[in-house]
Amino acid sequence: MKILIIDDSSLARRLLRKILEEENHEIIEAESGIEGIEKYYLEKPDLVFLDLTMEGMYGLDTLEKIKEIDPSAKVVIASADIQKKTKELALEKGAYYFINKPYDEKEILSLLKNIIGGEK
Ligand SMILES: [Mg+2]
Repeated sequence: MKILIIDDSSLARRLLRKILEEENHEIIEAESGIEGIEKYYLEKPDLVFLDLTMEGMYGLDTLEKIKEIDPSAKVVIASADIQKKTKELALEKGAYYFINKPYDEKEILSLLKNIIGGEK
């Protein structure tokens, strides 16, 4: 799959890229919400991992814009501490799934397996 990672932390992007590349996915990175929206538009990735807390454009606004570009976009929210209210908002805006930071390799690989298998 072609996967876009939107995160303002280069360390977080690198860690996730490493996990995903082991499974031979094609990775695109963006370090801000604005850049992520641009890259979504240009690259039409199959899946997006989106950090919630970023300078400038907040993750939820980024999610909203991506869903405007493509209502069927699969956007996984990645966050260290996701509050119930935030989760509800993200679901309303069309978030596809939530994963916790720090990344758990097994959780990510099982999510990808399910997506590829078409289960979720
Ligand atoms: Mg961040």
